[in-house]
Amino acid sequence: MSPDPSTHRGSVVVVGSANVDLVVDVPRHPGGGETILGGDLRRSTGGKGANQAVAAARAGGADTTFVGALGRDESGELLLASLDGAGVRTDLVGRTAAPTGTALITVSPDGENAIVVAPGANSHVRIGPEQAERIGAADVVLAQLEIPLDVVLAAGAARRPGAVLALNAAPSRDLPDAMWAALDLLIVNEHEARDLAGEAAGPATPTDPVDAAEHLAAALLAKVPAVVVTLGGAGCLVAQRGSAPVRVPAPRVDAVDTTGAGDTFCGVLAAALAGGSTLVDAARTASFAGALAVTRPGAQDAVPTADEVTTFAHPEQQP
Ligand code: ADP
Repeated sequence: MSPDPSTHRGSVVVVGSANVDLVVDVPRHPGGGETILGGDLRRSTGGKGANQAVAAARAGGADTTFVGALGRDESGELLLASLDGAGVRTDLVGRTAAPTGTALITVSPDGENAIVVAPGANSHVRIGPEQAERIGAADVVLAQLEIPLDVVLAAGAARRPGAVLALNAAPSRDLPDAMWAALDLLIVNEHEARDLAGEAAGPATPTDPVDAAEHLAAALLAKVPAVVVTLGGAGCLVAQRGSAPVRVPAPRVDAVDTTGAGDTFCGVLAAALAGGSTLVDAARTASFAGALAVTRPGAQDAVPTADEVTTFAHPEQQP
């Protein structure tokens, strides 16, 4: 029997990156050989893997383990504190001689980011026996593409029959056949969907974003059983083999900072699936969480609590 989604707290293992973001506002981005003065340095915790783990635990309420790697440095401690603070289990995070992953970000007045990522420890994530055992007990394994692909494949191979391997294919890159064969669920934004569908989508992609997502998802279903395409303020599209695609709108909010919306969405979707929700219901919950995240600045700092998501999604149930 399926677990009752109202009471079952499923388990999620997020396998991925953790970065410290070093952010400076600049009057304009410097050219080669140029030095310019910027504003005060801001430091925040990020990395798609860590962000999605925080979202699965704090906003999604799942029993969440993060499998990643951190340096033995102050940035590593900062990330551990953020993950621990959100209730993520960090006992299987590796510590490496390589420094913690770091993103150097300059932001110009028009809001455009220029980013250099030093992956550092993220290149050394390992699926050892303990990680494989925890993955083998999870309901959902969620990964992204900021760590080596063979680590994602090893994580997928360690899952138990019936567990879901979900990949947020970001940043975009080609996937080998072995990855497609292993995947149960692909979560992508419209750009990533276009990159992955490639020639299979044909030349005539519709101009309306939701129609385009439906067209791209249909092409991707040839390679993976289920696809969710996120569409920013337009919500998302859920496509599954054998059923009609479902459009899930996003609630209207005043967007302040869209950083981390996609990661919040992925983490909460994984948590809801682990708790026994259908994919469409999980996407509805994730959509509320993603919308709340854009009303706040930052990535992990912007992730709402599970209570906030419930109150936002079901205001009629509040006393
Ligand atoms: P990414 O950051 O990966 O491109 P999206 O921008 O598509 O991801 O955002 C992920 C999800 O977050 C969306 O599907 C939607 O549910 C929610 N979201 C993002 N931007 C907004 C917005 N402006 N208003 C409401 N919800 C949003």
